[in-house]
Amino acid sequence: MKSTIALNRRKFMGGIAALAGYCTLAPQFDLPAQQVRPRRRSGPPMMEGADYENSIKLCFNENSFGPPPSVMQAMTQAFKYAGRYAYPDGGLVPALAALHGVSPDNILLGAGSSEILELAANTLLGGHKKVLGVEPTFSTVYEYAAGIEADSIRLPLGEEYRTDIPAVIRAAKENRKDIGFVYLCNPNNPTGLIVTKQEIKQLLDGLPEGIPVLIDEAYHHFVEDPQYATSTPYVAEGRPVIIARTFSKIAALAGMRIGYAVAPEPFIEKMGVRSGGMHVNALAKWGAAASLKDVEGQNQVRSKIIATRKKTTAELESLGFKSLPSEANFFMVALKRPVIAVIREFARKGILVGRPFPPMMEHMRVSVGTDDDMARFLAAFKQIVV
Ligand code: PLP
Repeated sequence: MKSTIALNRRKFMGGIAALAGYCTLAPQFDLPAQQVRPRRRSGPPMMEGADYENSIKLCFNENSFGPPPSVMQAMTQAFKYAGRYAYPDGGLVPALAALHGVSPDNILLGAGSSEILELAANTLLGGHKKVLGVEPTFSTVYEYAAGIEADSIRLPLGEEYRTDIPAVIRAAKENRKDIGFVYLCNPNNPTGLIVTKQEIKQLLDGLPEGIPVLIDEAYHHFVEDPQYATSTPYVAEGRPVIIARTFSKIAALAGMRIGYAVAPEPFIEKMGVRSGGMHVNALAKWGAAASLKDVEGQNQVRSKIIATRKKTTAELESLGFKSLPSEANFFMVALKRPVIAVIREFARKGILVGRPFPPMMEHMRVSVGTDDDMARFLAAFKQIVV
């Protein structure tokens, strides 16, 4: 088992800050030489050099429909707390606890679920422990590990790009003493494929006792497949699982930075000590609380995004290009040619699509945008790829 090589989002592109440059300026791609390095912590992803306002943004799996009116209104009203430390917070933590059937002590808010991933890495990878997961996946967690000089063991995806659960169990057993936690992204980013509820059970039952599993459910809300289930009930059972959720996708609050963990109390306590508890701002809390209440708003955007994904992938298929069966707000289309040049061509047309995800160098990840976005995407696809 090697502790690994590879290619991650920010290093690969020289930082997301270089996305536009990478799309348009033909940078160097020195794949084999690159290794995970701590990410540069100088701020959010930027698109320097791109005409941001006029670009079609299909590159970060954002929710292009924006926050619903209920959420905007709640955040607007929360502005009055901008000058306060102690303020009413909209009852977010109890609402999340009720939603998941756990105690408020099982919930930890984060400035995005990214902060939850970082806290998990910081908490569980002390003493030269390693994170075990697959590749490609949401590599940020590996970068956080690298940031504290912890290694990662990254396994290739299995058949049809699915997560190979028996291989994960085997690797955990072989490296038992070294593993700080297992990272599982469900549905997986970038493939959009799920790990079924039976496979989650197989994993939790099959791992050496006590190895924590961080299950990243950022795209939970978009899953339709009945074989999938959230893993939050395992928290109530006291299993060593940390579930990461975000309001960035379903509630379109990516720029507000709010996510949370659902986990057994000892994990929440340890992570909470490191978080300081002050990273989430008042507006984000009120927006998130309003989003939880606005079930109708969530359903509307979910249906719209899923319908748009299906329509777009059906059109691509009619052109002879199959997509992986995504259960998320993005999809991966098989281009039958190297993706890097194609990404650049899209960027030249003002359409920003996902970065390359080695070793899937002939697949392109595309976030689902508005009808207009997807019409422009398809028109460009016909010119560039077909
Ligand atoms: N987890 C996955 C799988 C993601 O794809 C993303 C963002 O794209 C995140 C976590 C981070 O989301 P947040 O905005 O909550 O930090």
